[in-house]
Amino acid sequence: MDDQLAERLASVDARIAEAARAAGREPSEITRIVVTKFHPASLVEALHALGVRDVGENRQQELTAKTSEVGSLEGLAWHFIGQAQTNKARAVREAASVVHSLDRARLADALDAAEHPESDVLDVLVQINLTDDTGRGGVALDGVSALAEHVAGRPSLRLRGVMAVAPLDEEPARAFERLAKASEDVLAVAPDAGWISAGMTADFPEAISMGATHLRIGSAITGPRPTRG
Ligand SMILES: *Cc1c(COP(=O)(O)O)cnc(C)c1O
Repeated sequence: MDDQLAERLASVDARIAEAARAAGREPSEITRIVVTKFHPASLVEALHALGVRDVGENRQQELTAKTSEVGSLEGLAWHFIGQAQTNKARAVREAASVVHSLDRARLADALDAAEHPESDVLDVLVQINLTDDTGRGGVALDGVSALAEHVAGRPSLRLRGVMAVAPLDEEPARAFERLAKASEDVLAVAPDAGWISAGMTADFPEAISMGATHLRIGSAITGPRPTRG
């Protein structure tokens, strides 16, 4: 099992390096986050032993349970990439080093209010909705600047950039072009917030060609996710 895990990780990393070079970019400027949702905490430990230092979870309860089960592993950063309820902001802040899915001012306020004296500044990304469906996670393109300004005004949050999931019914590269535009809107507010979190198993090479700095890759590395009853 760990042999296969190591092989899949190496093969994805080789594809990342290849896509980066094809885009005239340095592979080292790209952070590969391994999405471990639905998998047991032991997978996080196995990944850490293989050198992985960034993992992603999309549910607060699972994040909280797994971080406490895994305990402290050197250099390990937990990225929260799922929808967050405002009343779970404190739990998210306690467990995550980075929140990719900040999509409304109230969530920014709740994450900011969850600061306690020992907590570090929390890195956050504004999630952008690249679909026409307003029910999907993320702020609409025309609301990006206002939300970025709001986040930049929260003292315990550090605005880092943008995040999005490509719509299923569109060429990912076209969708990521809109994300690159949203990234410029955020950079106009916070000149060092240049992270672009984009690219999953199905579309990470396209995301790299469109400037992604943080990839969120699950099944290509972990294998198929166990189903949840
Ligand atoms: C599950 C998930 C991923 C990873 O998906 P794969 O297709 O398994 O690579 C990336 N981003 C988000 C927001 C997710 O929920």
